[in-house]
Amino acid sequence: VIETIALYVHVPYCRSICPYCDFDRQTRGIDAIPRYVEALCAEIATLPFDAVHSIFFGGGTPSLLSSSQVGDVLAVARQALNVTADCEVTLEANPGECSVDYLGGLGDVGVNRLSIGVQCLDDPTLRLLGRRHTADDARRAVASARAAGFQNLSIDLMLGLPGSTVASWSTTLDRAIDLAPNHISAYILTVDERVPMGRDVAAGRLSLPADDDVADQYEVTRAKLAGAGFEHYEVSNWAQPGMASRHNLTYWRDGSYHGVGAGAVGWIGGVRKKNTPSPTRYMRGVAAGRVETVEFERPDHGTRVTDAFALGMRLREGIDLAEFSYRYGLDLSAALGSELEDLRVAGVLEVREGQLRIADRSITVLSEVLVNLTPALARAAASVDARSDQLAQT
Ligand code: SF4
Repeated sequence: VIETIALYVHVPYCRSICPYCDFDRQTRGIDAIPRYVEALCAEIATLPFDAVHSIFFGGGTPSLLSSSQVGDVLAVARQALNVTADCEVTLEANPGECSVDYLGGLGDVGVNRLSIGVQCLDDPTLRLLGRRHTADDARRAVASARAAGFQNLSIDLMLGLPGSTVASWSTTLDRAIDLAPNHISAYILTVDERVPMGRDVAAGRLSLPADDDVADQYEVTRAKLAGAGFEHYEVSNWAQPGMASRHNLTYWRDGSYHGVGAGAVGWIGGVRKKNTPSPTRYMRGVAAGRVETVEFERPDHGTRVTDAFALGMRLREGIDLAEFSYRYGLDLSAALGSELEDLRVAGVLEVREGQLRIADRSITVLSEVLVNLTPALARAAASVDARSDQLAQT
């Protein structure tokens, strides 16, 4: 079996910065996009000829690229890489940039999945979030995507927004379901204290709903989307049957991926690499024949195991215990011992048909569960390392 991998393409530009955002993005340099696209193409041309099952244009705002620029990147990818015939090609688009013409052009160059950043369907909240679109723009964007022939359409939503209640979030969800997307990502808003919205929250100028209210909003999400025929396949992601994101599943299953562009992260052959987040430095580096990286590391076995565990536990299918043991040389039941058993008895974790997963009612406390289990996991991984070192020396 040939291992297929994913390709992530980062577009770090935005027309304006949303007050809650802490991604690698900037408003400066939008006029440099043609040069930036050339740099992306040049970096992709240096990649090894791997088989690629998904390509994802993320940002920032990838819909700032023209359809022919997206086409240029895809053309180079098809030359440099073994892009599979059924490759999933996603582009994240802002609702204000989704004319039928533009989206049709994206379809023509090979984009076959759109992820539209709807966020919410209520104008005052969209303004508070600093978004440039309205709820009507979002509805029009979805209609344009269908008119342009897209059959795989995802929308992004955010819950736990300032001023939101279970009732207001239920209304948003009903409106979102009415849009009939194939996939919905619904993320709980978290704000870092260093971004403007975080400073407003810290200073008491803005308040976020209490944790219990957010947990209730999350429960409503699960119930409503299940009722509307969506499968809950990852903590924050729901899909119609067969429409889960292949690209994002690669991350959660600890698969390999290349990341190209300023600030992009790649994970191949046990090496994690992050490109410089500065588009200027990135373009200069590529022009000189060497992409500047800010991280280049080979995590130790313990880190690999705990990272893979944390990612896999986000999946509703959970972690296949036998496969985990085969890939990482660690029997999770033995490694987590009584901690796992206690959480299982308490109904926080479940083990069914060889899959370990978080129980429905405990999804919102997954991060606490992971914090509690990580030390035991890291200890067990360290002892596996010590044993293999001994074997290597004998
Ligand atoms: S459009 Fe997206 S990436 Fe750009 S600032 Fe807003 S949230 Fe951040």
